[in-house]
Amino acid sequence: MRILLLSDIHANLEALEACLAGAPAYDLVANLGDVVGYGASPNEVIDRSRALGKIFVRGNHDKAATGLLELDDFNPMAAAAAVWTRDQLTPEHFDWLHSLPQGPLPLEDFPHVQLVHGSPGDEDAYVVSIGDALVPLITLTTPLTFFGHTHLQGGFFANGSSADGFRPEYRTVGQAESVSLQLKSSTRYLINPGSVGQPRDGDWRAAFALFDTEAQIVHFHRTPYNLKAAQDRIFAANLPSRLATRLAAGR
Ligand code: ZN
Repeated sequence: MRILLLSDIHANLEALEACLAGAPAYDLVANLGDVVGYGASPNEVIDRSRALGKIFVRGNHDKAATGLLELDDFNPMAAAAAVWTRDQLTPEHFDWLHSLPQGPLPLEDFPHVQLVHGSPGDEDAYVVSIGDALVPLITLTTPLTFFGHTHLQGGFFANGSSADGFRPEYRTVGQAESVSLQLKSSTRYLINPGSVGQPRDGDWRAAFALFDTEAQIVHFHRTPYNLKAAQDRIFAANLPSRLATRLAAGR
């Protein structure tokens, strides 16, 4: 089984389309949340995402846009985008987003895999450093967790003798590329496919991953997309302009 992993699309339709066009063949799609927020195409992205399958966990922006999370903890830019998104959503999309399940979510037929937006212990917590990852890695009964939320592609591992973080290393900053990670037995992993719609690891290209369950390989991908079109939609929507400009920097 080849599972396409998408996270943090953030209503960026152009980035999502580029990922789907550039992805190798897959059998199943798993979405790790933050389908909306920041970007200017929430309804289009929800339509496209729902057409891909039924496996979703909710993200904090999905909650914020549907009133499940107070905006007090959001920075003004994120709060403005959440309010704008709420106004844009069709009633049907609002209800769908509102009913997305909380992670961690077991992956049917794959008992060794689970999905979460933030951290296995707290769906809204950020796993940025090995310090953040260590407790979940040590206490998890599930060897492989796919997570999102940080918008940083890569992850963390722990085995009997060591624990560390890793990031895929790419050769260019503008071409479609992939880097593969062979999973090892007796090792636990927290793996982030990266953000489709708003990467923050200094690489503007849309990020996603493909998990080959038979080969036990995670293929990390980056793909260029129509950045200007995504930015123009944000400007046209009168969302904070920084939400458009940051896309070019991947920050
Ligand atoms: Zn996010």
